[in-house]
This record gives sequence, C-alpha cells and structure tokens, in this order.
Amino acid sequence: MSTTKKEQVERKRAGKGSRTCFRCGTHQAIIRSYGLYMCRRCFRETAVKLGFRKYS
Ligand SMILES: [Zn+2]
Repeated sequence: MSTTKKEQVERKRAGKGSRTCFRCGTHQAIIRSYGLYMCRRCFRETAVKLGFRKYS
C-alpha cells in the first residue's frame, strides 16, 4: 500500500483549485503548458533536460 487516504485527499484538493509545483511545491507562476505542473523556476531547469530551448 503506497497510497494513503491522506494522500488522496491532498491530491483531490490540489486538482480542484490551487496548483502547486510538483517539484518544489510553490504555488507561484505555475506553468500548465505541455502537461507540466511546475513553477517557472523549475521549468527553466527542467526544460533544458526535456529538450526545450530558448528562442530569443
Ligand atoms: Zn518549482
């Protein structure tokens, strides 16, 4: 058993309204694009690994 009732409740709450970065847990500047739910800061770090590049 890896999933507890408490985890299910928290997951439900998170999906209802407040989005949080699954990587660091912040709720600021969450990026939902590409199916990602992470903050801007984590996105910049992860994007490089995923193959995203700056087009500027
Ligand atoms: Zn983050």
